[in-house]
Amino acid sequence: MIKLPPLALLLITIGTLYATIYTATAWALPRAHAVPGGIALINLSATDSPKPMVQLGKQKILVRPHEGVWQAVIGLSLTTPVGNNTIKVSTPKQLKTVSFKVEDKRYQETHITIKDKRKVNPYKDDLERIYSEQRRSRNAFNRWSKPQPDVNFILPVTGRLSGNFGRRRFFNKQPRNPHSGMDIAAPMGTMVNSPAAGTIVETGDFFFNGNTIFIDHGQGVVTMYCHLESINVKPGDSVEQGEAIATVGMTGRVTGPHLHWSVSLNGVRIDPALFMSVEALEQLDAPNKKVTKK
Ligand SMILES: [Zn+2]
Repeated sequence: MIKLPPLALLLITIGTLYATIYTATAWALPRAHAVPGGIALINLSATDSPKPMVQLGKQKILVRPHEGVWQAVIGLSLTTPVGNNTIKVSTPKQLKTVSFKVEDKRYQETHITIKDKRKVNPYKDDLERIYSEQRRSRNAFNRWSKPQPDVNFILPVTGRLSGNFGRRRFFNKQPRNPHSGMDIAAPMGTMVNSPAAGTIVETGDFFFNGNTIFIDHGQGVVTMYCHLESINVKPGDSVEQGEAIATVGMTGRVTGPHLHWSVSLNGVRIDPALFMSVEALEQLDAPNKKVTKK
């Protein structure tokens, strides 16, 4: 056996420890952040016991095996009350409630000027179309399918982070719904890739969102891609992680080419950044940095 000086041994030990911690965090997605628009992770029973069923109100909640326990992965809508919230946990033998705390989070305000006034104050004739598209979106987001979702997402597109989730928005000085996703600015025609395996469940040209795709990843995890230039998939298609599904465009209510990306858990939109590793998020250029065209 080769004799190592004590310092080398110490470094090897630290190296091994670092690798262990790194691997653990690299797979610890999504990240917990129990605020409105965030995610609460709650450890339940050991995985050698039957898988519990979890509900928040009437909504079914994703439960996954995680480090030897069943873990509830709860999407918290932007309207979740701050303070104590409860879930119902049921197994064949018992029904119990588990409470968890939601902290406050103040999202920034943003003012956007849209030249096409009809996209801010739609005509009467547009409303029927808008309502039917809202129904289609709701149906897509409220889906519940069997596959255990892969929650280790990769970025759907690289570019400049041009809009964070949750911002309170004013279009042409009028208050509108808060921002329900993450905006990534990229040149027209940049490939958009599926962040994880899933099934295409809806596509279309939507009034506000432009060309749009919905992907069902399983058990209430649904993602949406908007303002696309072209759509390369159709409902029913299966996609793998990293598969090209569309190109970046500027259809719908936009000020420039970008991808609007929404992530939904148990029927509510949450911050997509929580589904990304810190390393992946660092690949996005900082806000206000110019997009470098490739
Ligand atoms: Zn957006």
